[in-house]
Amino acid sequence: MEERKPKYRRIVLKISGEALAGPSGFGIDFNVLDSIARQVKDVHDKKVQVSMVVGGGNFWRGAKGEAYGMDRAVSDYMGMLATVINCMALQERLEKLGLETRLMTSIEMREVAEPYIRRKAIHHLDMGRVVIFGAGSGNPYFSTDTTAALRAAEIGADIILMAKRGTDGVYDSDPNVNPDARRFTRLDYMDLIQKQLKVMDATATTLCMDNRIPMIVFDIDIYGNIERAVMGEEIGTYVGRD
Ligand code: UDP
Repeated sequence: MEERKPKYRRIVLKISGEALAGPSGFGIDFNVLDSIARQVKDVHDKKVQVSMVVGGGNFWRGAKGEAYGMDRAVSDYMGMLATVINCMALQERLEKLGLETRLMTSIEMREVAEPYIRRKAIHHLDMGRVVIFGAGSGNPYFSTDTTAALRAAEIGADIILMAKRGTDGVYDSDPNVNPDARRFTRLDYMDLIQKQLKVMDATATTLCMDNRIPMIVFDIDIYGNIERAVMGEEIGTYVGRD
C-alpha cells in the first residue's frame, strides 16, 4: 500500500512556554519536552520541513514586569531571552533523537545560536534540518505568536500549528467554566477578531490574514497530534480562508 503523503510540506510549529511547563505551570517539564521532540521527529521522518517558534511565558512575560512598574521594553527583552532557554532545551532533545537542528535567534548570541537570516533558515529547512527560531521577533511590544506569523510569511510556510495545552481548539466560551461550550472546527481570521476569541493577539491574526497563512489550533498533550495535523486529519480548530 502506498504511504499517505503529508498535506503540508513546510510548517511553523508554535510552542508556547505554557505548553512546555506542563502541569506545574513554570519551567520545563521533561515529559512534555520529550513528547514534543518525538512528535517532531515523527513528522520530520515523513519529509516535512519543520520550523519552530517557541514562547517564554513559562519563565517570563513582558506584562509581568510592567505590572511591577518595570519599563515595558526591558521586560519584553527579558521575555525574549526566556524563549532562548526553551529553544536550547528543545534543540538538545531533538538532537538526542538524531535530528539535525539549527537554533536561530533574533537577538545575536553567537556562542549558542546563529543569528536569524531568512535565506539561511530556508536553506537549513531544504537540507532537512529542524530550524528553531528563538528570541521572538527581536522587538519589544510583540509576541511569539506574531513571530510565528512573521516567520511563516517569510519562509513561505504552508501552515502554522498552534500547540496549546489543556485545550483542544477554539471554543465559543471557556470550556472550563461553561460545560456547554462548543468547539469551532473552522473559523475565518476575522472571527477571531470580531468574536474576540483569545487564540492569539490581533497583530498576529492580521499578519496571518493579510498573508493568507492558515493555522490549526490543537492540543499538544495528545501524542500524535502534530502528525495528525500535518497529515490533514481534522483535529482542533482550523483558522483560514478557502
Ligand atoms: N516578546 C517580545 N517580542 C517578541 C516576542 C516575545 O517582546 O517578538 C516577549 C514578550 O514580553 C512576551 C515574552 O517575550 O511576553 C514571552 O513570549 P510570549 O508571551 O509570546 O510567550 P508564550 O505566551 O508563547 O509562552
